[in-house]
This record gives sequence, C-alpha cells and structure tokens, in this order.
Amino acid sequence: MAEVPLVFEAPKRGMPQKHFADYTEEERIDILKELGLPKFRANQLAKHYYERLEADPRTMTDLPAAARDKVKEALFPTLMTPVRTISTDEGETTKTLWRLHDGTLLESVLMRYKDRATLCISSQAGCGMACPFCATGQGGIDRNLSTGEIVDQVRAAAATMASEGSRLSNIVFMGMGEPLANYKRVMSAVRQITSPAPHGFGISQRNVVVSTVGIAPAIRRFADEGFSVTLAVSLHTPDDELRDTLVPVNNRWSISEVLDAAKYYADKSGRRVSIEYALIRDINDQGWRADMLGKKLHKALGPLVHVNLIPLNPTPGSKWDASPKERQDEFVRRVIAQGVTCTVRDTRGQEIAAACGQLAAEER
Ligand code: SF4
Repeated sequence: MAEVPLVFEAPKRGMPQKHFADYTEEERIDILKELGLPKFRANQLAKHYYERLEADPRTMTDLPAAARDKVKEALFPTLMTPVRTISTDEGETTKTLWRLHDGTLLESVLMRYKDRATLCISSQAGCGMACPFCATGQGGIDRNLSTGEIVDQVRAAAATMASEGSRLSNIVFMGMGEPLANYKRVMSAVRQITSPAPHGFGISQRNVVVSTVGIAPAIRRFADEGFSVTLAVSLHTPDDELRDTLVPVNNRWSISEVLDAAKYYADKSGRRVSIEYALIRDINDQGWRADMLGKKLHKALGPLVHVNLIPLNPTPGSKWDASPKERQDEFVRRVIAQGVTCTVRDTRGQEIAAACGQLAAEER
C-alpha cells in the first residue's frame, strides 16, 4: 500500500490563548469567579457574543467598567485580524483573509444570495490531505484551528450581515482543511453554531454542511453525535484506481468503505449525503465514469444522495483544467439516468481565487 501523507492531529504548536468559545459554561463561571465576578455574568457575556455578535468586553457597557479590561484579557483575546477583503459578484461575495496570533493565515468567504447568506469557513490552517488539484493541499498543514478560531469566523460574518440589516443563515465547512481531522473542535463549533441563543448563534442544523474527504471511522463517529447537519463527501471519482491519486486518503479508506460510512450517516441523520465531484478535463469527466458514479451511489445510498458537480477552478500554474460545458452537461445527464439527482454548483467568487486556499497561498 502506498504511503499516505496524512496528518490527522496537527501539532499543537501555535494554538492561541483560550477564548470564551473554547470554554464550557462551568469553566467560564469558574474563570469569572477568579476575577471576582458573579455567575450571571457568564450568561451576560454569552448574550453579547452569540446574540449581539460583540467580541470586545471593553464596549460592553452593562459590565462594570473596572471589570472590562480583565474580562477581555482572560476570556476574549483577539483571535483574528483582517489582512484584506476582496469583493466580487458586485459585492455579493466577499473573501476575507485573516492573520492569526502566530502569523498563520486563514480565509473565509461570505456569499449573499436572494434568500440566504452562506459562510464558507476553514477548520485548519492549511490541509494535510494533499489532494494534487488543490492549492491548500500543496502547502501542507500549518496547524488545527482552535474552536474559538472556527467560531469567531462565524461571529465576524454574522456581525457583517447584521450591519447590512440581514442575517447569516448557512454555514459550510468547505474552506481550508479537513474538518473531521480536527474532530473535537469542529464538533464543539457545530454545537455553538446551531445551539439557540444565548448558547450559540441559533443557525438551523439543516443549514450547516460539514465536508470530508472520507475519513470513514470519523464519519461514523460524527453520525453518532446525533446532528441533522448535511454531510458532504468529496468523492471526485467513482473508481479507487484514480481516487488513490486524486484524493490520497483513499489509500487508507476505499470508496466502498466511505460510502458504507456515508450510508450510516444518512440513516442516522435522515439527511441526504452530498457527493462533491470536481469535474476535471480528461481526468474524471468521461461518460463511463458518470455511469459508474450513478450506479455505485444508487446502490450504496438509494434516494439519500445528491451529486454536486463543481466546475474546477484551476489554480495558477496548475496542469488541471475545467471540463468543457458540453462534457459537463453530458456528465449530469448520465448520472441522473442512473436515478441519482445531480446539479452543478454555482461557482461564486471564481474571480477572486475562490478555489480553497488560493488567497492564502498568494499572500504567502
Ligand atoms: S481539496 Fe480539501 S481535503 Fe483536499 S487538500 Fe484541498 S482542502 Fe484538503
């Protein structure tokens, strides 16, 4: 078996100081107690953070003035500083590059639609999964993000939407990193994203998508958490031979193992699994692959599956290219002919280097 360049638990190097979002409610109460503050302040701070989307106690006027600085110091370190923001689609899409406390770069993309606003967030700085067509994969992994760093991307975007008189409604874990390789912190973030205020942002579980390259045991563990969020599996081809190269983690867990785990998730959550397929010219876009994909998915998941085709956004200097439109249409038609729903993903933000990790790669 080929050696797989995987990093499941990135080193703790560079982790930031713990933040309000990293602590349980009891821990927050204990810390406040040490600062000489009563228990009810924990709830008050949670309201500021999750409901009013404020992260700086120095502006929280209902906190005693003398306590604000010490609460900031103990519970609200600055986790992210914006480096630059780029807009496209007439301002409907904004991509923000953040610098973390240790200089690590991370990015999140906010997409405004007529009926919703979706934030694509990162779960790791870099990624250890080494997919050859992906800019993030080429840079390797810097480190896992802390729970606070994941949650604060959501708070910042929700605050932006609130300032525009609107609401952040959807979250997709499809930015940099493999979410299930930073398992505990991502689970805690999902809980805080979906819990009702004042314990979280109150975003519906049905509006959250967690993507994975297919770490089969982690998918099963995720199913047992009891969420009804959508699982997205980046399959990219229906045959192990090609997938061993396109998605190197396939050397560890084959397509049939991944689809078995996905079926377990679909049964437990009652949600259709989304299969992500980046269509790459002359690599995985052949008609016979579309037939094989449709057949395998129909057999493994029945009606509990949907294929999301992603026209590849080529990274600078890459040999990989998007498929021609006719081939893409033919691919969709052949998958549907096997009884599996299939649509082409809207490619928001292509002009601003929205292939994951590209903006951070340029900055480096
Ligand atoms: S495609 Fe996703 S999993 Fe693969 S290297 Fe890029 S970020 Fe990691």
